[in-house]
Amino acid sequence: MHRLLADDLAQLPDLLDLARDRAAAVLAGLDSRPVVAAGVRGGARVPDAVPLPADGVGAAAALAEFTELWEPHMSASAGPRYFGFVTGGTTPAALAGDWLTAALDQNANSSFEYGGQGLERQTVAWLRELFGLGPAHSGTFVSGATMSNFVGLAIAREWLGTRLGVSVAANGAAALGRVRVLSGTAHSSIAKALSMLGLGRSALVPVPVLHNREAVDVAALERELEAAEGPCVVVANAGTVNTVDFDDLRAIAALRARHDFWLHVDAAFGGFAALSPRHAHHVAGLDEADSICIDLHKWLNVPYDSAIQFTRRRDLQTSVFQNSAAYLGPLGEEPDLVHLTPENSHRLRALAAWFTLRAYGREGHREIVEHCAESALAFHAAVEATPGLVPLAPLRLNVVCFTLADDPTADRIQALIRAVSEEAFFTPTVYQGVPAIRAAFSNWRTTADDVERSVRALRAALG
Ligand SMILES: *Cc1c(COP(=O)(O)O)cnc(C)c1O
Repeated sequence: MHRLLADDLAQLPDLLDLARDRAAAVLAGLDSRPVVAAGVRGGARVPDAVPLPADGVGAAAALAEFTELWEPHMSASAGPRYFGFVTGGTTPAALAGDWLTAALDQNANSSFEYGGQGLERQTVAWLRELFGLGPAHSGTFVSGATMSNFVGLAIAREWLGTRLGVSVAANGAAALGRVRVLSGTAHSSIAKALSMLGLGRSALVPVPVLHNREAVDVAALERELEAAEGPCVVVANAGTVNTVDFDDLRAIAALRARHDFWLHVDAAFGGFAALSPRHAHHVAGLDEADSICIDLHKWLNVPYDSAIQFTRRRDLQTSVFQNSAAYLGPLGEEPDLVHLTPENSHRLRALAAWFTLRAYGREGHREIVEHCAESALAFHAAVEATPGLVPLAPLRLNVVCFTLADDPTADRIQALIRAVSEEAFFTPTVYQGVPAIRAAFSNWRTTADDVERSVRALRAALG
């Protein structure tokens, strides 16, 4: 063994303590660290590239160097005033679970070993209950909602093959001819998934939305289905990123009585409405979907990277993703995880989710969702009360979409975001042609004080 490795092995508990101390200091400093350091945005001021070191320094010195050189450039995205994108934090239990994931370093893919697969299946069953789905849905962990959409649409592609009498898994996507994927306000990852799936970005057919909404017009969707003359895929959206609008899932599912389509629901963060009796009406009908995408590193507050994919057609999922090899077992009733996603090997991603669900239960996670929605409500009210700012859409759940009252150009929006980014971080968008700002509330740590502090920063920047 290399001398430095042997030294580190001999002091492993001390090294873990050093890393623990660093992690605790980072988390304790979330309130004072710039949420996103204004001067560093856009990649400026990172240390000059250094060549790969021939000789190492050992883990303790590497940690010291990281702390000095790189840690100051890290954002406070784990903290309570990072409102960009839709970014969850990490609950204490999820963090502990994630540390143990690396320590255990399981190859959690096959029935050669019970623990990893067993724990993942248990966690999937808990998540199915959490989101109010029935036993016909099976689930698999993937790295994020983009991969979850990709897997769902891969199963949809295989289903289209069964309708047309061809096997896409065997003969490729070209056997399908032209494919139509109908959606109202699809997330950008849907087009990316279609590109990766060989269906092409142009397979996505935008369907008109309701007046002043991002939800699909179900009557217009039905007209598109009629025009399609053949089986289609419908991507319903449960939580759009600008205004958190929800398609009417029940009404869309009911169209299957008259039309032949696969129903995929992108419920990346909107799916969490199911956790709260106050908000669950938004996702009524979710269980009727053929495949569902839900992101866990957003509102479950587990660390990156984690999402889940649910489907009613595990048989088609294994057609797509089976990985036959002499040393792997037959598919059977409960196929090994290696046969269910693009990855063969993957980390025991389920462990962080298991920890947070066991530690806080359904009630704890309901509280996180409701508390975030209340924070968004307070922020929305503060925007309305701020001269110079106006909300652009009614608040439905946890994202406030707002803009400048006067002359909201993209440049002025960028300048405002930059001016406040050390106190609170927001991301820009364009909604109905108007440059705007999104504030997404999905971190368990956010308090009423954080909302006030963020509003104060915006008001100060407006002058
Ligand atoms: C975030 C998001 C995605 C993509 O999620 P990643 O985890 O970044 O891959 C897809 N759809 C919706 C609606 C989202 O909000």
